[in-house]
Amino acid sequence: MGTKCKIAVLGSPAVGKSALVVRFLTKRFIWEYDPTLEFTYPCSCQVDDEPVAMEILDTAGQVESNQTNFEGTVRWADAFILVFSVTDRHTFKQISILKNQIDEIKRSKNVSCVIIGNKIDLEHQRQVGTAEAERMAADCATAYFETSACDGSPEIDEAFHEVYREVKRRRYLD
Ligand code: GDP
Ligand code: MG
Repeated sequence: MGTKCKIAVLGSPAVGKSALVVRFLTKRFIWEYDPTLEFTYPCSCQVDDEPVAMEILDTAGQVESNQTNFEGTVRWADAFILVFSVTDRHTFKQISILKNQIDEIKRSKNVSCVIIGNKIDLEHQRQVGTAEAERMAADCATAYFETSACDGSPEIDEAFHEVYREVKRRRYLD
């Protein structure tokens, strides 16, 4: 069975949320994934030799624009993976806005969260530098990972594992 952990994957449309979730679950890359599909995947995995029963919610659409649905999602989740594309500055700007909205709904700054900058394989199209993203993540007090869902970087697994470690640390604090 393992410890339960509900993770919501949030971010602007087309940043690669579904590609990252599918890659984490199956170790495969799917080029086209229905952008309107919102689905919760059960996943049993090991984090630091500990069995964990994750539920991963791959959100779809402009979550921010549907306030009720967004609030419900935030309340449901124990932890958050916030994804932007390093090739699209607009999606990067959305991250701190999302983080503030989550903090407000959870009524806490102590929210378990990691940030992913995805699509680093498209280096020639990069609009957001690593150092800049690291500073933003530090402001949000979260870890930052850079990934490519199509190359399958080990950082993808690392991000999912780290967000669980965050939940665990905070459970100890409570
Ligand atoms: P979502 O709307 O955030 O769930 O994004 P999707 O997972 O549906 O991906 C949107 C588009 O970006 C699709 O065409 C994917 O093939 C593509 N994509 C996702 N991740 C990557 C990546 O790491 N590198 C590249 N080059 N394309 C990606
Ligand atoms: Mg999707």
